Amino acid sequence: MNKGLVLVISGPSGVGKGTIINKLLGDDKNMHLSISCTTRAPRPGEQEGVNYFYKTEEEFAEMVKNNEFLEYASVFGLASYGTPMSQINLRNEGTDVLLEIDVQGAENVKKLIPDAVMIMIAPPSFETLRSRLIGRGTETPEKIAKRLNTAGKELSYSDQYDYVVVNDDLDVAINDIRNIIHAEKIKLAGKAAAEKIITEIEEYGIVK
Ligand code: ADP
Ligand code: 5GP
Repeated sequence: MNKGLVLVISGPSGVGKGTIINKLLGDDKNMHLSISCTTRAPRPGEQEGVNYFYKTEEEFAEMVKNNEFLEYASVFGLASYGTPMSQINLRNEGTDVLLEIDVQGAENVKKLIPDAVMIMIAPPSFETLRSRLIGRGTETPEKIAKRLNTAGKELSYSDQYDYVVVNDDLDVAINDIRNIIHAEKIKLAGKAAAEKIITEIEEYGIVK
């Protein structure tokens, strides 16, 4: 059995990451969304263990101290977010693991998991991003401003990503990501097959 892909999805707040991910998860039962810990408060409708594991500052600091995170970061200067190490293990059972994390976390994951597939989601324009964030209606004007201020910095990391997908038409963006996943699976399976043959040749020994 081939191991699953690790897919890292980043992008400015309000660009549509959550919307895209929900659709991908709905269509693919072999995909697991890594659930992060956060010190931010749950939004209306969010659930413990479904959207995040909600932690106090003290609990989060304790987890950092105990090396329980694959990576963690302070995002927007508003709250801490971290990926529990345990979320990645399903990869070894052939499940694709999807991480929706910020650019700092993504950089750290790439160092630890070099074959992670890095996808940046970009908006078609700044105005579209602004109106999506306002339209979602989940943040105060002050928090919207902080999130928009961070958007430029996040997009400036695009060069470090394997793919940048523009989320203009939702169906097109989702299809682009499905195509990326398909291509990356071919690559992973091909490399595993080549490695297997190399081992077989080594075991066979050189015929003189
Ligand atoms: P993120 O998870 O990146 O912060 P969301 O998935 O919450 O963003 O999307 C922000 C808002 O934009 C939501 O109200 C969502 O319905 C809307 N949205 C997402 N993608 C599109 C799209 N392609 N076209 C129009 N609206 C979109
Ligand atoms: P939100 O508060 O809108 O749910 O998420 C805010 C930001 O935190 C998003 O950019 C999201 O990608 C990022 N984020 C969520 N979980 C993690 C995590 O575990 N690690 C890091 N580094 N960023 C995360």
